[in-house]
Amino acid sequence: MDLDTIKNARPTPLSIYEMLESRFGFQGWWPGRSNLEILVGAMLTQQTSWRNADKALRNLRKAGSLNLNAIANSNLRELGALIKPSGYYRQKAVRLKAVCNYIRDRHSTLRRFLHVDADALRAELLSMRGIGEETADSIILYAADKPAFVIDAYTKRVIRRVFGIKEDLGYKQLQNYFQGGLAENVGLYKDFHAQIVELGKRYCMAKPVCVGCPLFKACRYGKSR
Ligand code: SF4
Repeated sequence: MDLDTIKNARPTPLSIYEMLESRFGFQGWWPGRSNLEILVGAMLTQQTSWRNADKALRNLRKAGSLNLNAIANSNLRELGALIKPSGYYRQKAVRLKAVCNYIRDRHSTLRRFLHVDADALRAELLSMRGIGEETADSIILYAADKPAFVIDAYTKRVIRRVFGIKEDLGYKQLQNYFQGGLAENVGLYKDFHAQIVELGKRYCMAKPVCVGCPLFKACRYGKSR
């Protein structure tokens, strides 16, 4: 099976969500205490776990540096030291500072930036160094409260296994699969992503634990074992 044929195949995106939600319950986590934290966290968690990104966020918070102007005006060495737990800290410091400068110079405030229409916001985010599709959509969904289904490594792994797909899955194709099968609903997209993260942490790891997995009955990989 390939990605084009799963559009009409079972399980549908909605039935996957229902199976996960009925097991895990509504997750209700949003990654950050403020929109700036969500944006900064989305950049810091690249190539590392959320735990490490959170340590870096805590350092920024403690230093009183979690605001747009503080990061835009920061000394790169000091900023790098604060975000060191997130790894690749020199590169991340340069990119974070550049993004904050861009937002401040073009839009004055983060609030105005996030107010931009979703397609334009995505295009602006993707034009910045260090922001790829997953990071852009995380910011659009969780900080701007606009509908963009986030595709991460967990999502790709789960869908490949559920449908028995061997090939790598393209970001946009996979996003179309989810968005095409769901009502355009920000709360649903947020919770669905959280459900997939929970599944990836508890069952669908690199070495999956299929027995007891909420998707077991619908999963080709699980049933083949
Ligand atoms: S049944 Fe196994 S492979 Fe399928 S989604 Fe669950 S943990 Fe992953």
